[in-house]
Amino acid sequence: MIILKLGGSIITDKAAKEPTVNHNHLNRIAREIKNSNTSDLIIVHGAGSYGHPFAREYSIGKPFSSDEDFQKKRMGFTITQSWVKKLNSIVCDALREQGVPAISIQPSSFITTENKRINKADISMVDSYLKKGFIPVIYGDVVLDEDPSIQMAVVSGDQIISYLAKNLLPERVILGTDVDGVFNKNPKLNKDSRIIETLSSLQELDSVDATTTVDVTGGMIGKLEELLKLAQLGIESEIINAGCNNLIEEALKGKKVPGTVIKK
Ligand code: ADP
Repeated sequence: MIILKLGGSIITDKAAKEPTVNHNHLNRIAREIKNSNTSDLIIVHGAGSYGHPFAREYSIGKPFSSDEDFQKKRMGFTITQSWVKKLNSIVCDALREQGVPAISIQPSSFITTENKRINKADISMVDSYLKKGFIPVIYGDVVLDEDPSIQMAVVSGDQIISYLAKNLLPERVILGTDVDGVFNKNPKLNKDSRIIETLSSLQELDSVDATTTVDVTGGMIGKLEELLKLAQLGIESEIINAGCNNLIEEALKGKKVPGTVIKK
């Protein structure tokens, strides 16, 4: 089994003020997934500009201060859920148009968190779909949180990847994003950054700061924290550039492609 993540940075314009899909990337990637002929596959995608602006506006995951604040957050939760669901429909449609049997799985309907970490998720349904040859498509979403002071949280595609990988033990975990892998510093801001081919700790980065200003779930650092925890369990993952033609396809076909491997 392979778990493939499509980053919000690649399937949406993450810096856009309005939810904006990058149809060129999405349609090309859908074609690459089809061409790779992968059957035992789970796709997880990020929310990008369909999620972060709303989760930020309504401070989902932050403690609420009054009943009025709670009611506002609850409405913000429904708004965020609705937008990320729209993005998921667009992703599933793009896959289906290529003949990929994509089936949408909505996190807010079966996952809960406790202090923002997944504590309950019955993934037997994911398994049942996989067994029949469907390709489950799961995504970053808002979920109910069991911590009474927050009650609602954002669960990132990266946290979902990590949870699924821990429980399903895939052969390969591939994360497609908009840069060539992990660098010693943000490659978008530093021309002299260099790629790290194998990463086992955050200490290998020069600085650990907030990565993108738009990401409410931690950007590259949040992603690495999830993947390093997985690595500790002996599950390797790799971050590759989904913006480069054919890399996803080659990776799905089992080839070694340029990027960063996260391992123990
Ligand atoms: P995605 O939405 O694809 O999951 P993120 O936006 O969360 O990805 O993370 C990718 C972004 O992280 C890149 O666009 C890059 O600007 C930023 N970034 C920050 N620091 C680094 C780093 N050290 N190496 C690679 N990318 C970094």
